[in-house]
Amino acid sequence: MKSITEIVKQTEFSDEDIVRLLAITDPTEAEILRQAAYDRATHTVGNNVYYRGLIEFSNICTLDCRYCGIRKSNHAVPRYELDKETIVNAALWAATNHYGSICLQSGERRDPKFIAFVTDVLKTIHEKTVSPELPNGLGITLSLGEQSFEVYKQWAQASGNPIGLRYLLRFETSNPKLFDHLHHAPGREKALQRRYQALADLRRAGYQVGSGVMIGIPGQTLQDLCQDIRTFQKLDLDMIGMGPYITSEGGDMLGEGMMEEKALMRLSLNMIATTRLVIPDINIAAATALHALEENGREKGILHGCNVIMPNITPRIVRKNYQLYANKPFIEQEPSDTNLYLQQSIQKTGRTVALNVLGSSKHWKLRTGL
Ligand code: SAH
Repeated sequence: MKSITEIVKQTEFSDEDIVRLLAITDPTEAEILRQAAYDRATHTVGNNVYYRGLIEFSNICTLDCRYCGIRKSNHAVPRYELDKETIVNAALWAATNHYGSICLQSGERRDPKFIAFVTDVLKTIHEKTVSPELPNGLGITLSLGEQSFEVYKQWAQASGNPIGLRYLLRFETSNPKLFDHLHHAPGREKALQRRYQALADLRRAGYQVGSGVMIGIPGQTLQDLCQDIRTFQKLDLDMIGMGPYITSEGGDMLGEGMMEEKALMRLSLNMIATTRLVIPDINIAAATALHALEENGREKGILHGCNVIMPNITPRIVRKNYQLYANKPFIEQEPSDTNLYLQQSIQKTGRTVALNVLGSSKHWKLRTGL
């Protein structure tokens, strides 16, 4: 049998190799994997970590994803929607603090009023953030769920920044049975094939396409996670965001439990590092959920090959109402606290925070020539 040291040197990986890496628990082997993923990231995408300032502008949601704390049927959470001025001000704060990009995220809505609102917000953010430092304005990542091709196109145009335009839409798991189990709401609002279609639509609409999965979902196997990586390859993704599954009080899966925290952290880091080895030139985000599991969880993500971090810059007054999972961090911090803290802790990983740049995915640059 091949050793872990031999496997991590490869550039092509069999399913068996991938499962071997995902299954690592021995600390020495874990360190071999970590170092290899960190080095492959340095060699392929460089030493920079890029910021995407995350603005969670509304928790109003029309869907009922069973894992999620802000699903429609959770009536315990007060719903909010930030007004345009507040969102634009958060974006301006990001620009002033030299973030090259922001990410707008919310619950899922497809009504014309919502679509028009987002269009308007995007136009204004673009108009107000073009500067000598950011000649194309802020880079924009949207994370607003499944929409039609026409809507994706409309938002792309409104963003005004075709070279800093991205969308995050996780497929959550490539196992169709598990996907249905996670979303078994009446009416099947979500279906895995529909989600893949949305990812293809995003590509046609000109976005850098990001997706990802939750790690450690009850019932998920290492073979499932290996298939997830194969699906990342097949979808030819530009960016990946993935994090541990954490039970949520407001979700509908409390009874199914979750993995023990240490093991879940190990598995999440194995998944991140393995993905970096298999697809070296993509952007990989260190998910906030890593930090919910462990102080400095995101920094561990960076040490395992992540090169993007999404500091939460949502105004503090509404943050406690955007809890997708338990123990979500930074509920009390002002964005400026997060800033200082992050800058210092990222430096400790040996990486540099790259300011005033879009930080687009190398995979996307090679794919499009842009
Ligand atoms: N409504 C949008 C964006 C918000 S949810 C959408 O669904 O795309 C963003 C991500 O949070 C989801 O894709 C999911 O992977 C993650 N998430 C939700 N609940 C979670 C939980 N309990 N544990 C870990 N991640 C969770």
